[in-house]
Amino acid sequence: MVAPEEALRVGLFGGTFDPVHQGHIELALHVLVRCQLDRLLFIPALLPPHKRQPVASFVHRAAMIEVALADCRETGGRIHCSRIEERLPAPSYTHNTVEALMREEAGCRYSLVIGADSLLDLPNWHRIDELLQAVDLIVVKRDSVDRAGVDRALAALGPTFARDDGSGQWHGRGGRIALYLDDTELPVSSSAIRGELVEGRASPLLPPPVLAYVRRHQLYGWKDFL
Ligand code: ATP
Repeated sequence: MVAPEEALRVGLFGGTFDPVHQGHIELALHVLVRCQLDRLLFIPALLPPHKRQPVASFVHRAAMIEVALADCRETGGRIHCSRIEERLPAPSYTHNTVEALMREEAGCRYSLVIGADSLLDLPNWHRIDELLQAVDLIVVKRDSVDRAGVDRALAALGPTFARDDGSGQWHGRGGRIALYLDDTELPVSSSAIRGELVEGRASPLLPPPVLAYVRRHQLYGWKDFL
């Protein structure tokens, strides 16, 4: 049995990543450093349960994450892409993914990393009470969701979290914590980037190796106009 303070601290960053963009990459780098994680995993969903179905295939979305990370020196080899949801039953419930990861690598302390927009949707997640007893929560500022909004959203999760005004974090059951980071923000979304690509415009917030991949595979309606 590994003592919690010695456990490897692993961030789990799930999403559709259709495609991965600079907002995702910068969020991951910031959380890694700010929360002193040992490792952070991008976990592309095979089939997201609460969103429209992805435009690009799982294989393409995972490959785009891999080329983006390979190009990013600041990761220090600590940020990886996990393809675990490809072999789990669909739809891709985070609860099932975390259970599978814990079976494969016991003794880690896992933190779920989400944007503040996803926090508002958390009450609808599959087996959310159990999930929040198994992982810490790291919420990153996005859109118009501010600290008061985060407060309300955590309160809406029932008796799970209590606010600790002194430390600026929330305490959950079984020693779990929720943390809100509002010191990073990059307003960009995959849907906006897809909208630009279909018009033949490349967003500066699309990492260059991802744009090269999109062009090579003619994804998102991209056409090379001669
Ligand atoms: P779409 O526009 O297709 O809905 P997206 O840009 O929101 O996509 P996802 O893959 O759905 O990207 O997001 C995965 C996770 O990353 C979610 O928790 C989301 O809240 C978070 N996220 C995405 N973009 C940002 C951003 N710019 N700032 C903070 N969090 C973000």
